Amino acid sequence: MKILVINCGSSSLKYQLIDMSDESVMAKGLVERIGIEGSVLTHRPEGMDKVVIESPMNDHKDAIKLVLDALVDEKHGVIKDMSEISAVGHRVVHGGEKYSESVLINDDVMKTLEECTHLAPLHNPPNLIGINACKALMPDTPMVAVFDTAFHQTMPKHAYMYALPYELYEKYGIRRYGFHGTSHRYVSLIASEMLGKDISECRIITCHLGNGASLAAVNKGKSVDTSMGFTPLEGLVMGTRCGDIDPAIVTFLQKEEGMDSEEVNNIMNKKSGVLGLSGVSSDFRDIEGAAENGNERAKLALDAFHYRVRKYIGAYAAAMGGVDAVVFTAGLGENSPKTRLEVCKGLEFLGIEIDEAKNNVRGKKVDVSTENARVKVFVIPTNEELMIARDTMEIVSR
Ligand code: ADP
Repeated sequence: MKILVINCGSSSLKYQLIDMSDESVMAKGLVERIGIEGSVLTHRPEGMDKVVIESPMNDHKDAIKLVLDALVDEKHGVIKDMSEISAVGHRVVHGGEKYSESVLINDDVMKTLEECTHLAPLHNPPNLIGINACKALMPDTPMVAVFDTAFHQTMPKHAYMYALPYELYEKYGIRRYGFHGTSHRYVSLIASEMLGKDISECRIITCHLGNGASLAAVNKGKSVDTSMGFTPLEGLVMGTRCGDIDPAIVTFLQKEEGMDSEEVNNIMNKKSGVLGLSGVSSDFRDIEGAAENGNERAKLALDAFHYRVRKYIGAYAAAMGGVDAVVFTAGLGENSPKTRLEVCKGLEFLGIEIDEAKNNVRGKKVDVSTENARVKVFVIPTNEELMIARDTMEIVSR
């Protein structure tokens, strides 16, 4: 069975075609600048050179049409006919409280997803546009929605409720949802395999550290807490997002600076995090470079980032009454030995100890803890696309 995985952003689209007989990627690619001048598709068929196709694309339907054409192209295609695609798996950011697992898309599901749009006004609309575009081009192919929020639906109520008037939860659904769920689910599963135990016997803390970053406490295979909240703004210090702050700062800024809610929102989402603290960049490579050259604010940004992750690890060890493994994943977690080392410094009391030589790796699945450490520290490259494809295959095979 061959599954097409689609991840639609507002002006971009990522895709992978996966052969589920051996879970190999047949082709993957990225469409950028959809609906903007200079739209371009970069198509990477397995075992062949990448192809860059510049072509005007007015909307996501144009983009998906171009992707399908590339997949069946005589020269750089990987399948003969579109009918070889058995199903399409779509990444959808917000599934609200309704979806605790992936679901076959039908009219009712589309209606519910539209109702969830107010919870993720930036993310869900492009996801829905992507689904509709695919449906128009492949009307007979089954489609599955895989949600970023679904894995965290197992959190206990005391972990997901904010201490606000209860009516606000009832009226607007204001609560912690959590994101990156597909990634936390995937790496916790691999971690249990690396521990040699069934996931139902494991307490795992997963650290998804990219531009957006979140931690999850995964107890017996279920997410019991996660650092992102009602939106992906809460929790860790991120590339440009502030993470946890005193909420009174919002009203303070509105009063003192005369800002409206949009301006404060913009500051917290786009101008804060390590970018705001360092004044250098939102990219950790630039900040690590600046810190090495003696830039004090870059150093402060890194220290604040590491400290916040470390605090959350402590909190989640407490939430689960212990921990068997800590996992690092995503851009920074997979590729920055320094981040892993600094985050874990001072956590020896929990049994977390990193072997510096083993830790000197990038982008590989590996155990980087010392031989006698009570808690394993794993680097696990995440693979959200594979997880989406697995769910899609499972659901359409029912
Ligand atoms: P997202 O998917 O949230 O955009 P990624 O998971 O792709 O983010 O992570 C991107 C971030 O990973 C970059 O901003 C960069 O800071 C960090 N990163 C990637 N490679 C390295 C590296 N070799 N060293 C340090 N940081 C890295």
